[in-house]
Amino acid sequence: MSKISYSKEVIRDLIEGKLPWSQTKSIISGYKDEDRFDKYVEVLQEKVAWQEKILLPLTHELYIVQKGSDRIVKCSCGQEFGDYRVNWKLNALIHVRESEEEVKELYPYPSAPDAEFCEIREFYCPGCGTQLWVETVPFGYPLVFDFLPDLDTFYAEWLKRPLPSQKEFTDLTCDFIAQNWAE
Ligand SMILES: [Zn+2]
Repeated sequence: MSKISYSKEVIRDLIEGKLPWSQTKSIISGYKDEDRFDKYVEVLQEKVAWQEKILLPLTHELYIVQKGSDRIVKCSCGQEFGDYRVNWKLNALIHVRESEEEVKELYPYPSAPDAEFCEIREFYCPGCGTQLWVETVPFGYPLVFDFLPDLDTFYAEWLKRPLPSQKEFTDLTCDFIAQNWAE
């Protein structure tokens, strides 16, 4: 697989993700003008109180930012979730709805997921309490790592503006778990 097709695949994955990525995509691809992306990020940057440079928005509240030589996930409130290659959900507050009653609070019958098989996980920011994400998965399913963007490819191939220092593009979630929870 060539580097180009790989990067396109990565970008397609990004594009098919949730908002605000679809906004980002339409801004980028609609104009074929990387300047638009910068302007979009500028707008986001003006909305937050902290100084770290936004590299990419992840959700309405979460951003990948440059902090020193690290790229971390940061909430608009300032709460930090660590390296962006580690699933940020590990550092969020999690509320799991697994009983039928709890599920029905969210989903009125009959559209509710089957509480016999599924659980609904709500992720909250420990800093501001904002609900960041909701996922419905079978019991015991690992935390879904929704979005691990290849930032270096994105900046180099799409924006034609490589980031100053490269980071290995790899999922570090398991390493993080091993370091923090394993005996
Ligand atoms: Zn927050």
